[in-house]
Amino acid sequence: MAGFNISKEALDFIRGCTIDFDMNTGLSKTVDTGKRSLSQMKGMFADEAAFEKMLETDDPIVYEFHGLPLPETEGDLSFGCSILNPGKVGDEYYFTKGHFHTILETGEVYYCLKGHGYMLLENPEGDWSAHELKAGEAVYVPKRYAHRSINVSPDEQLITFFVYRADAGHNYGSIEEKGYRKLLVERDGKPTIIDNPNWK
Ligand code: MN
Repeated sequence: MAGFNISKEALDFIRGCTIDFDMNTGLSKTVDTGKRSLSQMKGMFADEAAFEKMLETDDPIVYEFHGLPLPETEGDLSFGCSILNPGKVGDEYYFTKGHFHTILETGEVYYCLKGHGYMLLENPEGDWSAHELKAGEAVYVPKRYAHRSINVSPDEQLITFFVYRADAGHNYGSIEEKGYRKLLVERDGKPTIIDNPNWK
């Protein structure tokens, strides 16, 4: 058969990239998750008094995330899962910190494996949108948009599978300094978008 050559190195690489996430739990057999506890998210929730009060008794895990150890090189794709626990600080639902990509002009796909939440998007010019996430639904994060997942379920984890350009990088800087323009809070039992009173 003519015309198909692949190097031993490339074959080894492809074999090593088998997706080993359990698509029910988001967990991998070979890779431990990174864990983000509530205390590591100081300053990110709007209700600081509620935040401090929670930490007096516990320091719960807000979310876990992981990717496989893939090369962060141009032309490759990187992928992983994030597992966001249910919970609120005051009336604000648990969220992932959220990030821009270092290479701002790169998009991403999030596919919801389990749970109920929102993907909150915001670009540097201030355009924003929130997309509902339910199991079996995908959200496209356009280039230039910071992205944050938010779990609005009272009792179920929000588990998402994501794929992005491997060299895109993560830029948390402006979100850690300024936050998001919008927040997702519970009002009359329903998820509601409000302006972030602390946004600078
Ligand atoms: Mn991303």
